[in-house]
Amino acid sequence: MKMAVQGTLRKLLLTSLFLALTTALPSSSIDASIYSSSPIIKRDVCVIGGGSSGTYAAIGLRDRGKSVVVVEAKSVLGGHTNTYTDPPTNATIDYGVIEYDNSPIVTSYFSRFKIPLTTLSNTATVPSLQEYYVDFRTGKNVTEYIPTDPTAAFGTYAAQLAKYSFLNTPGWHLPDPAPSELLMPFGDFVKKHNLDGAVFTINEYAQGFGDILSIPTLYVLKNFGQAVLAGAQTGFLTTARHDNSELYRKARAELGGMFTATTTTLQEEELLSPWLS
Ligand SMILES: Cc1cc2nc3c(=O)[nH]c(=O)nc-3n(C[C@H](O)[C@H](O)[C@H](O)COP(=O)(O)OP(=O)(O)OC[C@H]3O[C@@H](n4cnc5c(N)ncnc54)[C@H](O)[C@@H]3O)c2cc1C
Repeated sequence: MKMAVQGTLRKLLLTSLFLALTTALPSSSIDASIYSSSPIIKRDVCVIGGGSSGTYAAIGLRDRGKSVVVVEAKSVLGGHTNTYTDPPTNATIDYGVIEYDNSPIVTSYFSRFKIPLTTLSNTATVPSLQEYYVDFRTGKNVTEYIPTDPTAAFGTYAAQLAKYSFLNTPGWHLPDPAPSELLMPFGDFVKKHNLDGAVFTINEYAQGFGDILSIPTLYVLKNFGQAVLAGAQTGFLTTARHDNSELYRKARAELGGMFTATTTTLQEEELLSPWLS
């Protein structure tokens, strides 16, 4: 629908909310006449949340010919992607999401936005990066600790993963009953298959899991699956310009803007005209 960008923001916001709701409710259950005096933005899809998933969905829908509006709580797209720009030099450094699996989805997504990727090396990302090992029980550096070379254990781990190919698909598609080995604490699984050398690295990718040795093996294998294992073995990808936010700036420009959501209202964030033609 073509319309002038006018009226109160609140009207726009309420109608957007209405549109979002219409995606969830059968049209017969909504009395549209109560909204008719307000400007109405019509879109095929309203995406709530412009993080990684929402932005990918919005761009994908747009590429398939659908019109989309994104409602995001923050003033930028990208969710946990954060990039710092050093004012004097304009050099950028990512301090939220840093690395990506080397998968066709990732490479084609970034290439769509003409953003070159490179294999991540810690020194390229943070030139002065140095790792310290700390015992969180004492807060002291553990200077004598040297991580084991995980190469051999990764090979054994890969063979175990290959036994459970259903873990390699998006979502959870478990056989019933689930294989008993996947239900044992991961610590027992490590002992059973002699995987000690891989535990340090696997744990690095299990933020928020707590003590991975005590949780069911299923969760660890699902989290540290084939794509992550491949990244740990051969390197993850990152943006060559070390500016992961570039993707979201470009996505936002393509989407023509977005709404910023607050707890009580939605506010027009940018010019709406590109959305309304
Ligand atoms: C510090 C950190 C570093 C990470 N590093 C990596 C990494 O290097 N590589 C990797 O693959 N993964 C990494 N992750 C994990 C990755 O960030 C998540 O897997 C990914 O962000 C999930 O995307 P999402 O879109 O589902 O959620 P999110 O990125 O969380 O996006 C959700 C969005 O919805 C918005 N939102 C929430 N509520 C509302 C609302 N009511 N209305 C409107 N908008 C709303 C939020 O503001 C946010 O923008 C990292 C996570 C963190 C926290």
